[in-house]
Amino acid sequence: MEYEVVIGLETHIELDTASKMFCRCSAQFFGAEPNTHVCPVCLGMPGALPVINKRAVEYAMMVGLALNCKIARYTFWERKSYWYPDLPKGYQISQYQYPLCYDGWIEVDVRDVTSGWQEHAERRRIRIRRAHLEEDTGKLTHAGNYSFVDYNRSGVPLLEIVTEPDIRSADEAYAYLSALQQIVRYLGVSSGDMEKGAMRCEPNLSLRPKGSDTFGVKVEIKNLNSLRAVRDAIAYEIERQTRILRAGGQIQQVTLGWDEARRMTVVQREKESAHDYRYFPEPDLPPLHISEEWLEAVRARIPELALARQDRYRREYGLSAYDAVQLTAERAIADWFEEALRTSSAPHSLPARAKAVANWIQTELFRLMRVHNVPLDNVWHIKVKPAQLMQLIELVEQGTINLNTAKQVFEEVFQTGEDPRAIVEAKGLAQISDVPTLRRVVEEVVSAHPQQVQQVLNGQEKVFGFLMGQVMKATRGKANAQLVNQLLREAIEASRT
Ligand SMILES: [Zn+2]
Repeated sequence: MEYEVVIGLETHIELDTASKMFCRCSAQFFGAEPNTHVCPVCLGMPGALPVINKRAVEYAMMVGLALNCKIARYTFWERKSYWYPDLPKGYQISQYQYPLCYDGWIEVDVRDVTSGWQEHAERRRIRIRRAHLEEDTGKLTHAGNYSFVDYNRSGVPLLEIVTEPDIRSADEAYAYLSALQQIVRYLGVSSGDMEKGAMRCEPNLSLRPKGSDTFGVKVEIKNLNSLRAVRDAIAYEIERQTRILRAGGQIQQVTLGWDEARRMTVVQREKESAHDYRYFPEPDLPPLHISEEWLEAVRARIPELALARQDRYRREYGLSAYDAVQLTAERAIADWFEEALRTSSAPHSLPARAKAVANWIQTELFRLMRVHNVPLDNVWHIKVKPAQLMQLIELVEQGTINLNTAKQVFEEVFQTGEDPRAIVEAKGLAQISDVPTLRRVVEEVVSAHPQQVQQVLNGQEKVFGFLMGQVMKATRGKANAQLVNQLLREAIEASRT
């Protein structure tokens, strides 16, 4: 029998605010000594009163809007019973009845990333059930007979995003999470870094006979700290469960963990009785009213997102899907690319210019940034500016310099920040397009290599490249290659006897 997998994803995203969700402690604690970013509120001391972090609410609204969610105009906070020592209050402040964001959707391009790049992707829509704000827990570390707790993370704003069970493969789950990660980065509300725990994901998954509309037995997978781990764990589970079902077995309802070293899932907990969270309204916080003005002000801060930009780059500039995806991977790169195009002196030839800029960014710019250890999202802090790349492209287009010279000039701009035009002038790099000068060099090369000339005349095309090289060498690389090509052909033909 054929089986179909049904996957829902629950993702927690730490919001990158300066202070915590309900107190003034700094939420930027990465690398700090344990328990140095704490106060009576996030330590759960009796009598300490929480205060809502407005920025965190706005960040959550931004994510909700980017996920096409409806935004609640009225919501209140609730206490969710939680009896673990990493939240000393004994409850977590969360939102249950009225999540801040609900009923949304996200579109993702699903590519089979394991089998390399595909120009064509399947566009899928995944519905978002809800996204609500809560506070993060502290961190427990167990060592021998002791357990240690660090409350630096306790109270950091956390956005929980829950999808409908719309995901149908490991690749789709991967595509969804990458898109979500990209969205929070574009919005600047979280690093979305799974390795550092800023984004944490728990898929639930079940199999059912293909075509059936009932759900099978659901398992949950935890301990996934990379996008790849999510994809691998889901793929592993689909295979494991298919095998069991085909053999006539039954799936146990369990919570699984992903063992990265053994590349398999392991049972963490047997089926538990349903949690009784005993939600009740948080008496220490006022309800949250969201006015139209506030909502519109937040909406205005949402930039054009990656997928929309990809579609536009393909439509307006005729770029390939590959180019569009590479250029939009980081918002800073996409902004830099667009800024370069804005400085183009010939907007009518924008598609050609866009292709040239895209090529320069993906080859020379990325190469130099890699060599100098500059992360791609720091592109605005490097010395070369978008307008300078455009100037360089125009110098090539006008025939002032050839492509090889342009690469040298670009490297110099990268190092010094000087204008390409100034470098070309100061160093005398302008290419030689003067026909009499070039003809003289070509004739010298032709008469110095009679044997090679004969070989070209005999049809050995490769040798033509050698002769071109000699001319370029004699002009120290500055000859206009197109002209040399033409003049060399003429000279060789003329020497035919
Ligand atoms: Zn605090």
